[in-house]
Amino acid sequence: TSFAHFGFDEQLMNQIRKSEYTQPTPIQCQGVPIALSGRDMIGIAKTGSGKTAAFIWPMLVHIMDQKELEQGEGPIAVIVCPTRELCQQIHAECKRFGKVYGLRSVAVYGGGSMWEQAKALQEGAEIVVCTPGRLIDHVKKKATSLQRVTYLVFDEADRMFDMGFEYQVRSIASHVRFVYSFTFILSLFLSKIEKLARDILTDPIRVVQ
Ligand code: AMP
Repeated sequence: TSFAHFGFDEQLMNQIRKSEYTQPTPIQCQGVPIALSGRDMIGIAKTGSGKTAAFIWPMLVHIMDQKELEQGEGPIAVIVCPTRELCQQIHAECKRFGKVYGLRSVAVYGGGSMWEQAKALQEGAEIVVCTPGRLIDHVKKKATSLQRVTYLVFDEADRMFDMGFEYQVRSIASHVRFVYSFTFILSLFLSKIEKLARDILTDPIRVVQ
């Protein structure tokens, strides 16, 4: 598979070329078409596999489709991950690729200023990258709303499970009314995650790095 198979437009292709990636990684070859088609996915992939771009590129395509259909407030895509560092890394990738369409990303994580994050959320962003507890805090305080969300990713979902975030993960999933594509990224497939994934995802396709 080459990047041309994904059917991305010239703006996104140019940005990928600028990144000097020569070909898609295995998780991208498998995951991008699934997420583009709107199917739910369980991706088993570690850091370094190119997993972030595998969910960000289809997310951007979806946001651009959705933006025209639905006006309103709040993010269209939410990426939930376990730590502040991961949040910042994913946010940087969202900005790097999202800027070709003028899309805005906000990162909200525990330990950062509630007030500054709330201000950024209220200024508006199509993408929110967050740790689970902090997103819920902002929703409770009405700094943002999940009513427009149709693309949801839980990155390093197994780590969130181990850190005791299962309740928060379920709570976020249950607050989203319709999900076009739902992605769970795990570093290993463990049976303890199986029930959580089955409860949240609809008929997911499993891909392995
Ligand atoms: P990740 O697994 O998402 O943490 O990505 C690991 C690194 O691989 C990041 O620095 C990406 O910029 C880079 N990367 C992502 N996709 C590709 C690709 N297709 N070819 C080469 N490097 C890539």
